[in-house]
Amino acid sequence: MQPVLAVTENNCSAGAKSSVIPVDIAAAKAVSIATPVRDTEHLPLLAAAGRVLAGDINARIDLPPFDNSAMDGYAIRSCEVKGEGPWEFQLTGRVAAGSSGSSFATTGNVAVRIFTGAPVPTGFDTVVMQEHCERDGDRVVIVKGPRSGANIRRAGEDVRGGTPILSAGSQLTPQRMALLAGQGFAEVEVLRKVRIGLISTGSELQEPGGFLSFGQIYNSNRVMIHSTMATFAWAQVVDLGIVPDSRAALVEILGEASRSCDVLVTTGGVSAGEEDHVVSALNHHRGALDVMKVAMRPGKPVKIGLIDKMLFAGLPGNPNAALVTFLQIALPAIRKTAGLSDVGPTWLPGVAGFDYEKKLGRTEFVPVRQIGTDDVGRPILEMLGRGSSPSLSAMALAEGIAVLRPDATAIEHGNPLYFESLIS
Ligand code: AMP
Ligand code: MG
Repeated sequence: MQPVLAVTENNCSAGAKSSVIPVDIAAAKAVSIATPVRDTEHLPLLAAAGRVLAGDINARIDLPPFDNSAMDGYAIRSCEVKGEGPWEFQLTGRVAAGSSGSSFATTGNVAVRIFTGAPVPTGFDTVVMQEHCERDGDRVVIVKGPRSGANIRRAGEDVRGGTPILSAGSQLTPQRMALLAGQGFAEVEVLRKVRIGLISTGSELQEPGGFLSFGQIYNSNRVMIHSTMATFAWAQVVDLGIVPDSRAALVEILGEASRSCDVLVTTGGVSAGEEDHVVSALNHHRGALDVMKVAMRPGKPVKIGLIDKMLFAGLPGNPNAALVTFLQIALPAIRKTAGLSDVGPTWLPGVAGFDYEKKLGRTEFVPVRQIGTDDVGRPILEMLGRGSSPSLSAMALAEGIAVLRPDATAIEHGNPLYFESLIS
């Protein structure tokens, strides 16, 4: 779903900045260069949770496989419900869920005690719910006349054997797995996991737990991006650690990553400063960049390209910019690499609970949290920190990231907005 960002006309502010591209174009370019993995594996159904289906799947059987009762009650023949009620029936048998099928006499006013999920006996066409019956020994009195055919789930009414049920590229949600289980699939063929390398670049970075010398900061991006990707059942994250701002070191690790990963995500070092070596290292490997500068805040210097067949996503180092560019620009392309047909992101409607002035032509992404609900049920969103350049502490409070459209110059209280949830 991409309705929110699809405002490309006004996005590029000036001809002189023609290399600055709108967010929707940047995300689309990134998706266009990504190639889905092809290799597949067969997994037991439960082990395939969250994975990507390798092929289309057709139903093996009808669902339900046989006509069965939707209620606890009495199976009757509706032709015997004539004239004014109440109607009296003679109890002739009992059938519960799991019964392999029994046959009963079908002459006269006969009723069979039946339970939810039990096969409807041959010759019976209606189930009267027990709340509409009075029972006295073998006598059943129906006090409320049923509709003919009521309370029976017909064979194949949910799924017809042989028809398509799931398509290649679908993610195996619990509900889709339930459908496959209902069809008797014990195994499923899924695409192999995408191998995603992660590098934190920056000579100032120290891992949490280490001694923080003057001039150093702790590495926040590693855990943030790693833990985000760790929630993707279709991904295998390869943590390649911290690399200092050194061209030689970056050249070496980019080469290593391109031989073993489908995707490489880096943070930091993508701006135009003398200490930003990521692009130069990429050039060494004859990498091709398709996205260089994006009309977005934060995240303008984000880089997307290829090194050989490996998708490269160079995110800016500022943690907020890293997260926003990861979610908005890199992730759709990574999802395509995983073989997913839905590349996202998923936007939810909300309402501004703040006033904010912004630059025309630039898409801004701001951390938000819900502070109420409007009269049609939309969340009212508070903007956290100083909008698009917030602190780690403001980001930690965020429940979502709202997008402020490029064609807007101001956002006022009550304006409709879209946001992407950060809560899983
Ligand atoms: P850069 O994109 O390398 O210019 O970095 C922008 C800012 O983000 C600088 O202040 C960096 O110190 C900071 N930064 C870079 N990488 C990280 C990281 N992994 N964790 C926290 N802050 C970072
Ligand atoms: Mg840096």
